[in-house]
Amino acid sequence: MCNKRLSTGTIAYIRRTRYRQRVKKAALKQKAEAVCSRLMAEYGTHVSSRRLPAIDELVMTILSQHTNDVNMLRAFRGLQENYESWEEVLETSEEELGEVIRASGMYRIKAKRIQATLQEIQNRVGDLDLSLLESMSDREAMSWLTSLYGVGPKTAAIVLLFSLGRPVLPVDTHVWRVTKRLGLVDEGVSREKAQVLLQELIDASCIPSLNSNLVKHGREVCKAQNPQCASCFLDSLCDFYRESM
Ligand code: SF4
Repeated sequence: MCNKRLSTGTIAYIRRTRYRQRVKKAALKQKAEAVCSRLMAEYGTHVSSRRLPAIDELVMTILSQHTNDVNMLRAFRGLQENYESWEEVLETSEEELGEVIRASGMYRIKAKRIQATLQEIQNRVGDLDLSLLESMSDREAMSWLTSLYGVGPKTAAIVLLFSLGRPVLPVDTHVWRVTKRLGLVDEGVSREKAQVLLQELIDASCIPSLNSNLVKHGREVCKAQNPQCASCFLDSLCDFYRESM
């Protein structure tokens, strides 16, 4: 019925556009596969052995914001040494909690955020436990986690990947930058949108290694200010390299 209102030219245009989109997506999938293979050949298959309970991983991710892994782990150890349960963390004063996690930086804001997150979980689940995520699909778990105050797609993906072993790609600043330069996502795409697009492009079996390998590549080779293109093994797959040549 709808088609009757469209001219033959418009229908042909829509078909051509859809065909081009399918061809482009197929080419990007191929490129993503090639990138994944080359990164694995160079850096290996780095599947994290970290399997903390989801709530621990969530708190750890809050602690990791705007700091490095060493400081984040020092703050997390502080929590483990000072409190026997997440209930105790929730009940302590914000000031005391801030002092315990001071090493992670921005400790007052993080203390407030940790307690707000724990309180919301307590209110919604009736317990400080996130094992309900295990019975959810990846999409449902993603949606549940991002509905928590202050939890964005990257944090939710980290919890799903590292704690539950789900093939969900967290897009941090390195993953975002490198995939844009490679041309796997367009330049103007937001980090949140990039996460959705990359998730559709990349084979699930590749995601655990791809996450750590892209981060490593972004830190050591495809740096923000000075990408080392001359020594990069991804050069023949890279739009940025081709255009700058
Ligand atoms: S060729 Fe350059 S821009 Fe492309 S991935 Fe390698 S370092 Fe990054």
